[in-house]
Amino acid sequence: MTILWTRCNNCQKILYKQDILDNQNVCPSCRFHFRISSLERLGLLYDEGRYERFDEGILPVDALQFVDSRPYSERLEENQRKTHLPEAVVSSKGQIGGIEVIICAMDFSFMGGSMGSVVGEKITRAIERATAEKLPMIVISCSGGARMQEGALSLMQMAKTSAALARLDEARLPYISVLTDPTTGGTTASYSMLGDFNIAEHNALVGFAGPRVIEQTIREKLPKGFQRAEFLLAHGMLDDVVDRKALRGYLIRVLRLLLNRHP
Ligand SMILES: [Zn+2]
Repeated sequence: MTILWTRCNNCQKILYKQDILDNQNVCPSCRFHFRISSLERLGLLYDEGRYERFDEGILPVDALQFVDSRPYSERLEENQRKTHLPEAVVSSKGQIGGIEVIICAMDFSFMGGSMGSVVGEKITRAIERATAEKLPMIVISCSGGARMQEGALSLMQMAKTSAALARLDEARLPYISVLTDPTTGGTTASYSMLGDFNIAEHNALVGFAGPRVIEQTIREKLPKGFQRAEFLLAHGMLDDVVDRKALRGYLIRVLRLLLNRHP
């Protein structure tokens, strides 16, 4: 049986599921942006939804033999099975608005989009490819931060990705960072905030430490909308907030501007 109706968790309205799908997974009633997968994201952005994937053969290993409530190696296998993805980021190349571009899209359904060694390596390689091929770079972040099961190895990815972006910058190539709900921790503290343009989707949670930790540390109540995209824009932390439906057109305009290219 196919499920035709669903309830929006934000506005509580019962909605026809196809209406949400037709609306790029944004609630037609309250504008709530539902989380989408990396592949759905890439399909929405590229011309005719066409692109090629690369670096698919880089697979994660359990270097620390880490066990929390379960062995890390088991979690990896389970997430690979569940998502049909080798890791929490997909590297891709294609055209948007006729402009060739490299896009890395993170996937929250793979271990909360956490950044382990492979995520860092794939993003670094994608940036290096953009530098070598003189292409603009886009990263779509959706991540809970560094992957605790890889300890310091995952923290090193912050430096590695940032260094690669510095070289892209030296080559005078554009980098646009798109922050989606949620973008927190080590990703915010590295490549997600290093764009020539840092833009977020409507109402995305963007921060380093979570609100609960901050409240406990400073012993103060946080203002309404704290760490949400519109709040961060108002406080100078972002360059813009864009609705999902406007994102593709927005990216094309920014790329044309930065590349001095005209339609
Ligand atoms: Zn809604």
